[in-house]
Amino acid sequence: MSTNRNFQLKKKKEPSVDEILQGIRKGDRYSLSKGITWLESKKSEHREKAHELINQALQKPQPSIRIGITGVPGVGKSTFIETFGKALADEGNQVAVLTIDPSSQVSKGSILGDKTRMETLSTHPSVYIRPSPSGDSLGGVAQTTKESILLCEAAGFNVVIVETVGVGQSETEVHSMVDFFLLLMLPGAGDELQGIKRGIMEMADLIVINKADGQNLKKAQLAQKQLAAALHYFPPNANGWMTPVMTCSARENQGIQDLWDKSKEFLNQVKENQHFETRRRKQSLQWFHQSLTENLKRRFLDQPEIRKQIQSLEQRIIQGEISPFYAADQLLLKL
Ligand code: GDP
Repeated sequence: MSTNRNFQLKKKKEPSVDEILQGIRKGDRYSLSKGITWLESKKSEHREKAHELINQALQKPQPSIRIGITGVPGVGKSTFIETFGKALADEGNQVAVLTIDPSSQVSKGSILGDKTRMETLSTHPSVYIRPSPSGDSLGGVAQTTKESILLCEAAGFNVVIVETVGVGQSETEVHSMVDFFLLLMLPGAGDELQGIKRGIMEMADLIVINKADGQNLKKAQLAQKQLAAALHYFPPNANGWMTPVMTCSARENQGIQDLWDKSKEFLNQVKENQHFETRRRKQSLQWFHQSLTENLKRRFLDQPEIRKQIQSLEQRIIQGEISPFYAADQLLLKL
């Protein structure tokens, strides 16, 4: 009985920020997961702890590479990350994989699926995989992911991969948090068929046609040529990089090393011409402004008094007594 009570007491004790920070700096997975759980929590005391943790972690920034990977569902992202992640880890890198899955907010189901994804990679001693929190807004998930990147880096992960489903807004979010953005495509089908918008192709630093194996090999090579030709009509990248189109087979582990070499070529080039730093600085400012706007919105709209007033203004708008714009202006006077 007493053992039971002790167990319960032990379970309730929350570690301090300092304990978690020490753990993270030692590369302890439990501490890292705990820190990320605080980040994802809706409780203000957890969020406060998380912020303190990040501020502390930022005192000693760790060099890292942040890679974004996107593509339509079924293109082979998780198979690719299994193979690609393993190649990176075998080369001596510490690899963290974070996912952003916009579908999980809408249907509570998830396109990226559950923990069965990337099973082999998840057991690699140099790899840490953290799935997207579900039931949150894309803005919320994106914010948490940015903060999680910093914690993973503090834990010694020098390569952070952020995976997202290519279905819309989330690619832009991921692009705003990585140094290198990789777009996976299917062999054969035109880009309209793959639902990849031109804007997303423009954001890519490397386009890879996956499933270049078996009967698909020829189709993949043709698609590679067509895409490479199409990219010539795109505006040049400010960093001087011409986005290459490559092929690979994630399942057969073909072409993976080549495209990792190409990725390193890109990273070396942008580090040399300072675009790496410029991109990160721009992103930091973007994160600041986004975070400011989101927090301002949340803090203002979460006040009970404001919520009450919104309800009464809504009624007056519906009754045609006041215009929606005037109502918004009136409410903002309370700021
Ligand atoms: P995701 O939805 O983008 O994460 O895609 P998955 O990694 O789950 O892969 C979707 C399907 O494509 C699975 O059946 C995989 O086995 C298959 N697949 C993934 N990569 C390859 C590949 O390189 N070649 C072939 N032939 N199939 C692949």
